[in-house]
Amino acid sequence: MYWNPHIEQADLPTLRALQAQRLRDTIAHAERSPFYGALFAKCGISTDSIRSVEDIRRLPFTTKEDLRSHFPYGFLTVDKKDTVRLHCSSGTTGNPTVIFHNRHDLDSWSNLVARSLYCAGVRDTDVFQNICGYGLFTGGLGFQYGAERLGALVIPAAAGNTTRQIRLMQDFATTAVHTIPSYLFRLHTAFAEMGLDPARDTALRLFVIGAEPHTEEQRRRIEDLFGVKAFNSYGLSEMNGPGVAFECTCQNGLHVWEDCFLTEIVHPQTLEPVVEGEVGELVFTTLDRQAMPLVRYRTRDLTRFLPGTCPCGRNHRRIDRISGRTDDMFIVKGCNIFPMQIEKILMRFAQVGTDYLILLQTRNGVDEITIQVEMQAAWFTGDLAALEKLARQIVHEVRDEILVTPTVQLVEPGSLPKSEGKAVRVRDERQA
Ligand code: AMP
Ligand code: ZN
Repeated sequence: MYWNPHIEQADLPTLRALQAQRLRDTIAHAERSPFYGALFAKCGISTDSIRSVEDIRRLPFTTKEDLRSHFPYGFLTVDKKDTVRLHCSSGTTGNPTVIFHNRHDLDSWSNLVARSLYCAGVRDTDVFQNICGYGLFTGGLGFQYGAERLGALVIPAAAGNTTRQIRLMQDFATTAVHTIPSYLFRLHTAFAEMGLDPARDTALRLFVIGAEPHTEEQRRRIEDLFGVKAFNSYGLSEMNGPGVAFECTCQNGLHVWEDCFLTEIVHPQTLEPVVEGEVGELVFTTLDRQAMPLVRYRTRDLTRFLPGTCPCGRNHRRIDRISGRTDDMFIVKGCNIFPMQIEKILMRFAQVGTDYLILLQTRNGVDEITIQVEMQAAWFTGDLAALEKLARQIVHEVRDEILVTPTVQLVEPGSLPKSEGKAVRVRDERQA
């Protein structure tokens, strides 16, 4: 099901009533797992504890550490023979965690991804090239099944081999692509090296980008480079994968699919709800998952609820793009800094390319930040004075944003190390 006005345009009382009912069902499922069975017994929680969605606050949180310490089957509510697939998290930080699905769960997930793609403007007439890993990573199969359900023609291109990706785009007249944002810059360079112009030589009309943090400035660069709209896709393996929150064609925040995810934003230390509109940690409770429901799962992702209604007519609340993770914040000279604060400034400079690396080092017992920034090819000339002037400007603007003075090194285009999957933006080489 890719467009369901009954759910997507439901008025608030209807949506909240559906959530409360589904929350009770989720508790009923969850208590069959060893982990929640013991936890709920200890806390005196049962389906009777839930009358409305507000009662979510009576329930305990679940963390990644809980998933790890009950690896692999501690959260399973059904017999293993009734599960049909597992996925692992990419281990953005630490060891992977595993999520099991039964047939119902996979069906629900495919519907969510189909709904998300439709919401961003993908149609059954599109040729959808899915450029991402097809293994345990959820982006491959998640988008494959979702785009098929929508009725698009899906090319399971998987990751890597950029020349072949471009050939596929040309051979089959690809119109929509899903990939991580950092890859699109590499793709664009490859087009140029092959003497091709994506606007002239392909049928591309839409990108779906996600799985890694990126700024609004980065998105605009992608759109300008290709002349193609790019829509933000947010998800995490613990909540299936893609299809948790998605931008609609208005591009003004991401609708969270509230019929399937009860969404809270809490203060990462006090765990109390933040004031509506303030930034905090996203917390999700699955509302339509049977084999492995999760209750109040702490994502570590930071964002805020956006106010107002969306002109697209969907009533599911919108969140702002992810501004960072509680665990990718680093502290230098007492200042809390998120990589995206730095990216936002860098992308304002037309001379700057799209790749950068933030190095954290200790020199003489003092923490220091060095930002290595790739230049745009056209700007990387031998004019040392011009480069020094630019570096000084960047230092100045970054300092205004993060309150610490960095060292800025402008480096040749393509000279920074490239990672296979999600881009690595920070290298912490400080002594413990
Ligand atoms: P994984 O479970 O391996 O798919 O990784 C999920 C994590 O990737 C999330 O918790 C976020 O930190 C990050 N992520 C996914 N989508 C986005 C997005 N659109 N913007 C920023 N970060 C994202
Ligand atoms: Zn909308």
